[in-house]
Amino acid sequence: MTILFLFALVLTLMLISYNRVPLVLTVVILFVITALLTNFRLIYPSPTWFRWSFGIVMVTLAGISIKPLRRLLISDRLFSLFRRVLPRMSETEKEALEAGTVWWDGEIFSGRPRWKKLLKTPKPVLSEREQEFLDGPVDELCRMLNDWEICHHHRRLPDPVWAYLKKHRFFSMIIPARYGGLEFSALAHSAVVMKLASRNITAAVTVMVPNSLGPAELLLHYGTEEQKNHYLPRLASGAEIPCFALTSPSAGSDAAGMPDKGIVCMGEFQGEEVLGMRVSWNKRYITLAPLATVLGLAFRACDPDGLLGDKEELGITCALLPVDTPGVEIGTRHMPVGAVFMNGPTRGEDVFIPMDWVIGGQARIGQGWRMLMQSLAAGRAISLPALGTAGGKMATLMTGAYARIRKQFDTPIGYFEGVEEPLTRIGGRTYRMDAARKLTLAALDQGEKPGVLSAIVKYQLTEGNRQIINDAMDIHGGKGIIKGPNNYLSHAYEALPISITVEGANILTRSLIIFGQGAIRAHPWLLKEMNAATDQSSRNGRKDFDKAVFSHIGYTISNGVRALMLGLSGSWATRSPVRGPSARYYRHLTRMSAAFALIADSVLLTLGGKFKYREKLSGRLADALIHLYMGSAMLKRFEDDERPHEDLPLLQWGMDDSLYTIQQSLMGVLQNFPVPLLGGIIRLICFPLGQTYKKPTDRVGRKVARLLLSENASRNRLTDGVYISDSNDAEGRVNTAFHLVLDSANAERAIRTALKEAVSVDNYVGLVKRAVESGVITEEQATRVRLAQEASALVIAVDDFPRSEIEGDSPAD
Ligand SMILES: Cc1cc2nc3c(=O)[nH]c(=O)nc-3n(C[C@H](O)[C@H](O)[C@H](O)COP(=O)(O)OP(=O)(O)OC[C@H]3O[C@@H](n4cnc5c(N)ncnc54)[C@H](O)[C@@H]3O)c2cc1C
Repeated sequence: MTILFLFALVLTLMLISYNRVPLVLTVVILFVITALLTNFRLIYPSPTWFRWSFGIVMVTLAGISIKPLRRLLISDRLFSLFRRVLPRMSETEKEALEAGTVWWDGEIFSGRPRWKKLLKTPKPVLSEREQEFLDGPVDELCRMLNDWEICHHHRRLPDPVWAYLKKHRFFSMIIPARYGGLEFSALAHSAVVMKLASRNITAAVTVMVPNSLGPAELLLHYGTEEQKNHYLPRLASGAEIPCFALTSPSAGSDAAGMPDKGIVCMGEFQGEEVLGMRVSWNKRYITLAPLATVLGLAFRACDPDGLLGDKEELGITCALLPVDTPGVEIGTRHMPVGAVFMNGPTRGEDVFIPMDWVIGGQARIGQGWRMLMQSLAAGRAISLPALGTAGGKMATLMTGAYARIRKQFDTPIGYFEGVEEPLTRIGGRTYRMDAARKLTLAALDQGEKPGVLSAIVKYQLTEGNRQIINDAMDIHGGKGIIKGPNNYLSHAYEALPISITVEGANILTRSLIIFGQGAIRAHPWLLKEMNAATDQSSRNGRKDFDKAVFSHIGYTISNGVRALMLGLSGSWATRSPVRGPSARYYRHLTRMSAAFALIADSVLLTLGGKFKYREKLSGRLADALIHLYMGSAMLKRFEDDERPHEDLPLLQWGMDDSLYTIQQSLMGVLQNFPVPLLGGIIRLICFPLGQTYKKPTDRVGRKVARLLLSENASRNRLTDGVYISDSNDAEGRVNTAFHLVLDSANAERAIRTALKEAVSVDNYVGLVKRAVESGVITEEQATRVRLAQEASALVIAVDDFPRSEIEGDSPAD
């Protein structure tokens, strides 16, 4: 009986924890159960030790539920300890951490994501006006862009392109209509950048910069009315070209450590003595700087003469300077790899600026870092993720087609298993990346500024692009390597490091920001504990701390129980919000979310403030968090696309790959856990039946690859939103040849079967003639085969140049 009671008790406690029943209710439930069992004498006779132990547990739980008592005995003591061990944080670190909002990242950290909330998020849809812009001016601009000419002959965007960009207000996507801007949604903004990037990276970056973190964005949120009325209409029309200078030679990733200074002083401006600042700066890598007309500048303001008050160091400040201000040095160019957008340094020494030039005026001095971090929290989710997804989509479109057109050993190379592997990765990753792009944009268009999720998509979609382009290069072989107008991959390949490096270099973003910021912002209790511990009014602080710390303990216990129960049941111990083939993935993600939350918490509790120096652990936890988000995004996408059966291989490949990555990342954390014994125990809790998630199977992989080798609805959805060329250019020729090759496939097969010879670009003239003469194919089929082979020959061709064109007139040795 005692054993039975014990079993019932443990089970009840587990169910209570699993469902996160409040403490007071827990005590009541336990008392009721005991009373019932004792009344029916079910636990009689039981050993005395057991009754005592059980009594002690009950009294402890009851004690804990009495707040004044538990504060006196436990939380007030923990409070002092917590205050002592709390990591020191600089003001800029705090501002970066606090930037933006928490959205689905909070659900992942909860260990119990509310899927219905995700599925209720409206599907992102372009408005009619936005769609017209994409089909009109954006398509027209894409037709104007000749990638090879721009990169190798002009080495800049040609003047007609600049004029077109200004005329159609491409630089004003984030500017409200009342200032003459396009006032687009985040989705439309991303769609424009993505389409342009699929054609020419230089044009995409040129459009991206004025629309992302820069003068317009800062003015919109923080500018004075006067500044907005002056600048926004001029920025919208392209009369002003902006750039924003944050990075200094000594302060790159650690931008807040910039040495650039603005000293508050009186100075002469337009013939009058006014209050302002003497600014000195040395910035580099600034996009659009060489031809900008207005320079956004971040520097540290200081007031050594006490003109504004008694504070000397005022903090990072942002200002807007017309570039023709005396002393502004600007105009020379850097040469980024793979693209020829304007980028260069700017310097200035003791340049006097009036206070009116500070964004937001004098009141905003010292608030620059907060302003930048807030803007980055949303902006980072749009441009570079769009650029990365464009790379994935173009690689899908071109590589699938090329692998079908290009034959070796008389077979399209896409049918070889070795090629199938990278082709599968290209398709699967593109599906996942686009899903994450869309979900994050949906959040943005709901008014969220999800700082952690924007870091995730910035990192993952640029990293995914790197992997995809590398795979695409391998599949193209020599065709990808030889430069020239026939090569549609080389610039995307060369320019890869740009998006990896800017707006938070990827190593730093993965190993420091994603989990570091997520753990504090998206964790349900940690920030509350930290805020309570730093609350100056100690009384309130202690009260809030007590609530946070006991909720935190309950949360950790619950995650442990949930991880174990879900692990033991193969994720069956939870419900999915949907039925059908995607249902199991919701359950598995719920399970991994509980495991992630438990492991993340254990790392934080074990390492305390030191966790930020353990970047390898932080990076692995970031990988798990990233794939929990990517997985959620794929499930949402599948629903938004109305569950197309033919997309199932893409969903399966993406989900299996993400679940496997989550498992491996968490195992990596546990293998390197700071306290090995604890790591072992947590491993038993989270993976009680071992590592059950496997890599996607070859069978699923083959189905994904096959989707890329033919024309079908899945492939169209996968590549939706990029510019599809039908002209006589490199991409257009691939699209045409692909269509023709598929169209002539039956005829080719008939020839091969009947004449025992495969059609190729070398033999097709004679072979097709023989096939017609012997009645194997009709004349109409013969025409199709001829056209397909002619088109294929154009696709597999690469460029060669006269030596003088490559070597110029440089003297030979
Ligand atoms: C083409 C281009 C355009 C740009 N446009 C602009 C612009 O318009 N305006 C502007 O202000 N800036 C711009 N930048 C600057 C860009 O934001 C910086 O290059 C970026 O912040 C990284 O700085 P860094 O290049 O000095 O690298 P570093 O800071 O020297 O970093 C080098 C490496 O160390 C890693 N690293 C650094 N610290 C850590 C850490 N704590 N943990 C782990 N890894 C770490 C980084 O991830 C990186 O891989 C541009 C840069 C380029 C290349």
